[in-house]
Amino acid sequence: MSREQVITAANKAHVRLIRFLYCDNGGVIRGKLAHINSLARRLETGIGLTVAMQAMNMLDQLQPVEGMGPVGEIRLTPDPDSFVVLPYAPNSAAMMADMLTLDRQPWGACPRSFLKRMIGRAAEQGFSIQAALENEFSLLRPDEAGTYTPIDTGLCFSSVSMTAAAEVMDDIIAALESQGIAIDAYYPELGHGQHELPVRHAPALRAADNQVWFRETVRNVAHRHGLLASLAPKPMPEQAGNGCHIHWSVWDTAGKNNLLYDPEDRYHLSQMGYHFMAGVLAHLPGLLALTAPSYNSYRRLQPHFWSSAYTAWGPDNREAAVRVASGLWGHEAETANLELKASDPSHNPYLALGGLIAAGLDGVARQLTPGEPALIDPGNYSDEERAERGIERYPTSQAAALDALEQDEVLLEALGPDLSRSYLAVKRSEYQAFAAEELGFEIRHHIYKF
Ligand code: GLU
Ligand code: MG
Repeated sequence: MSREQVITAANKAHVRLIRFLYCDNGGVIRGKLAHINSLARRLETGIGLTVAMQAMNMLDQLQPVEGMGPVGEIRLTPDPDSFVVLPYAPNSAAMMADMLTLDRQPWGACPRSFLKRMIGRAAEQGFSIQAALENEFSLLRPDEAGTYTPIDTGLCFSSVSMTAAAEVMDDIIAALESQGIAIDAYYPELGHGQHELPVRHAPALRAADNQVWFRETVRNVAHRHGLLASLAPKPMPEQAGNGCHIHWSVWDTAGKNNLLYDPEDRYHLSQMGYHFMAGVLAHLPGLLALTAPSYNSYRRLQPHFWSSAYTAWGPDNREAAVRVASGLWGHEAETANLELKASDPSHNPYLALGGLIAAGLDGVARQLTPGEPALIDPGNYSDEERAERGIERYPTSQAAALDALEQDEVLLEALGPDLSRSYLAVKRSEYQAFAAEELGFEIRHHIYKF
């Protein structure tokens, strides 16, 4: 979409306010808004933002990061291609914004620019990445005491839960469709009040933008139904957690051939696909700090909860960190894909996808191989069997994942100095803040912000 088309579309929809949104280092979606009368100008100039916002954690505690204090300005510059009219807010529209420096360059601490850079690196190798983010979320009814009750206690995939959620789900799906987000399927999930809505795959940048629209839409539509939709990784410690599994495939740059597909292989995965997957597994300890980044994420990542807990892979193995998904009948070539289970919706999707691409490209460059597949739940192997197979328990806390990220030179180089040091400072401060508090504090803040 061109800038002129954005202005025409905004006027046609009687839009008054246009949100320029970004996702920050804490995974929180924030932004500033332009009035329709200033839209033409603001599309050119962006809206000013203090550099300090990338040093702010999810509790709005500003961290001491050099060069990210009270002095300095960047510009939130919207991408016209991401324009959507918001079906859940009166006379409102939104665009995803890049953070540009005053000399119009991508700012080093801009997560969306980081993903664009990784997409560019993939293109240099002849690859274009497609991704679909598959979210689970909890539909909760708030009460006056400040507690939340799940809207259903139905069984996994049960029609009782479909009934409980039918009206809000229909509104959520209609709202996503009106923003051009294609829905693939819908299922009530195992946890109480837990529902899952997989969307269709899209090029990586669009998939990350769609993830922001998805989070916003689910929460806003639920709000209009008097409900709170939480995409926190583990909103109820005794219930199944919310994953945001990342399905991805690697195509040629023309987008014609899915390069993950090889009909001759026993799991229909190409040699390049094995290398790419091996890169993701090799970097998984540090990558987790980007894909499952919050304090609450590690309550979800436990053995035997179908979220994965080990650096294992396997065909249709839902306890493995990477599942080689079986293709769909009659569409085997186009649907060959890999699925990262160790990922949840508290992540910043630009950082998660960018990190995954950096890790995978490293695997391809170094021709890494992933070892033998896990054909059972890797948590059921003995310690000796896991050691023989090179399967390791990955970091079990946010702090340990951040330590692994700090030691991962490939991921640090990919992120660059501004993003990596601000990210580590922000996320470490979250660890300290939540570790010092009660469980209720952690749950409250994650339930409400994601
Ligand atoms: N809720 C599980 C998770 O935490 C995923 C269940 C499934 O869809 O396999 O990721
Ligand atoms: Mg699921």
